[in-house]
Amino acid sequence: MTAAAAVHVPGHLIDGQWTGPGHDLVATNPAHPHEEVSRAPAGDAATVEAALDAARAAQPDWEATPAPSRGAVLHAAADRLAGDADLARLITREQGKTLTDATGEVSRAVATLRYHAERARAPEGETYAAATPGERVHTVRVAVGVVAVITPWNFPLAIPTWKLAPALVHGNAVVWKPAEQTPAVAAHLAEVLMAAGLPAGVLSMVLGDARAGTCVVDSDIDAISFTGSVPVGRQLLARAAPRGVRVQCELGGHNPAVVLDDANLDRAADAIVAGAMGSAGQKCTATRRVLVDASVHDALLERLVARCERLVVGDGLDPASDLGPLIAASARDDVLAAIAEAAQVGGDIVTGGVAPLERHHDGGHYVAPTIVSLPAEPEQLPRLWREEVFGPVTVVRAASGPDEAFALANDTAYGLSASVHTASLAHARHAVSVLRAGMISINGPTTGAELHAPFGGLKDSTAPAPREQGTAVRDFVTTTKTVSVRDPEA
Ligand code: NAP
Repeated sequence: MTAAAAVHVPGHLIDGQWTGPGHDLVATNPAHPHEEVSRAPAGDAATVEAALDAARAAQPDWEATPAPSRGAVLHAAADRLAGDADLARLITREQGKTLTDATGEVSRAVATLRYHAERARAPEGETYAAATPGERVHTVRVAVGVVAVITPWNFPLAIPTWKLAPALVHGNAVVWKPAEQTPAVAAHLAEVLMAAGLPAGVLSMVLGDARAGTCVVDSDIDAISFTGSVPVGRQLLARAAPRGVRVQCELGGHNPAVVLDDANLDRAADAIVAGAMGSAGQKCTATRRVLVDASVHDALLERLVARCERLVVGDGLDPASDLGPLIAASARDDVLAAIAEAAQVGGDIVTGGVAPLERHHDGGHYVAPTIVSLPAEPEQLPRLWREEVFGPVTVVRAASGPDEAFALANDTAYGLSASVHTASLAHARHAVSVLRAGMISINGPTTGAELHAPFGGLKDSTAPAPREQGTAVRDFVTTTKTVSVRDPEA
């Protein structure tokens, strides 16, 4: 197969101009590692400072622009992105996910832009009674100022969009550091927003690796919205929060699916396989552990294996593929090593556990959908039980009844999402009260979230800040002022 041409990334976006010599960071196609997809420059402290200066200069006028006009820019960006098949293909080439998933990601970004565009017309502020005659008290919301946005590679369009759109529509300027693996998708989104009418400086984009991210964190920024791994999130929180910077962190997950003895096993198996294997398991909300009532353990396992073995692993651009490659060879090796370690400590690899090596796989970073069954009372717990291993693998363990299943589900430092499969409303209600997760699905997958509902975790999966998405994010990107007005004649 002839390699598609590399995409030209125009550079950093600073004050409405594309800049940046070097283009030394090379992004390759995870399905065809020899194929260069894009090259980007690596930003440093000076790049971040220039971006911040431009943002500070542009922000007051942007905030003074009527909110519906700010919303109109987001609508115009949505118009440009809608049905952009080339962008979907670019997401697949740069990130690896299937074209179906990439097309869904473009649609999600469009819907997110439109939702936040309309928030510009939503009521804001509240009025209160005053104890003083002739006085009225009300609140107004003002922008925080300049918000830094730092994003991962696994949803290179959707996650930036759900952070940029609310920040921008509420009058903030943004300095954005996208992931080094997906600069071409990032540059495309920035170009679309500029073409939609965003004034110069309101959005700056600094490309680069972790060093560029560190420079953003250490800059004189007002707020940081970060999505990524727990270690980086914790580091960032420790550096920025003591300086009084507002920090939102949405981090990793280790999401359990609980299957009780009264569950519809076919539906539960569908949801678990979709949740564990979708996007090759490279989702923060992926199903990492399955806790199943011992009485239905074997019947569920059989269904899970049958579904996994039907999945086709291959290039995301091939319509036959259900699962694409992992982002990098190191990611694939890490997942395979964790599976091997699970086998060494008593886990049974029921299906998968290998890297498919057929000719058409072309050296891509693939891992076959993998299920590891653990003994009900394991002598040693594998890394797969404790750590977020970012690939298409889940562990299954039997539990004796709902109480043990819920306790095992909570046996993790993470707390992003969880699902429970049951026909009983009483069990479902109990699950909602005892499961320590920010998002709980009854009879659905651990993955998938409505863009107008709050999104976020508990425990190590988050930081103490308002939630992302929906109306909740407004509390992060704005500050409330309370205003009391006395009639001068009263
Ligand atoms: P990551 O390594 O934490 O990186 C995330 C972003 O931070 C990237 O832009 C990265 O730049 C940058 N970065 C790295 N080190 C930094 C530092 N010291 N200071 C500032 N920025 C830094 O995460 P990832 O591997 O890209 O993404 C996978 C992780 O994200 C998983 O843990 C997944 O669960 C989590 N995730 C969470 C959610 C959620 O909403 N909860 C959603 C999606 C993903 P480089 O890319 O250049 O290294």
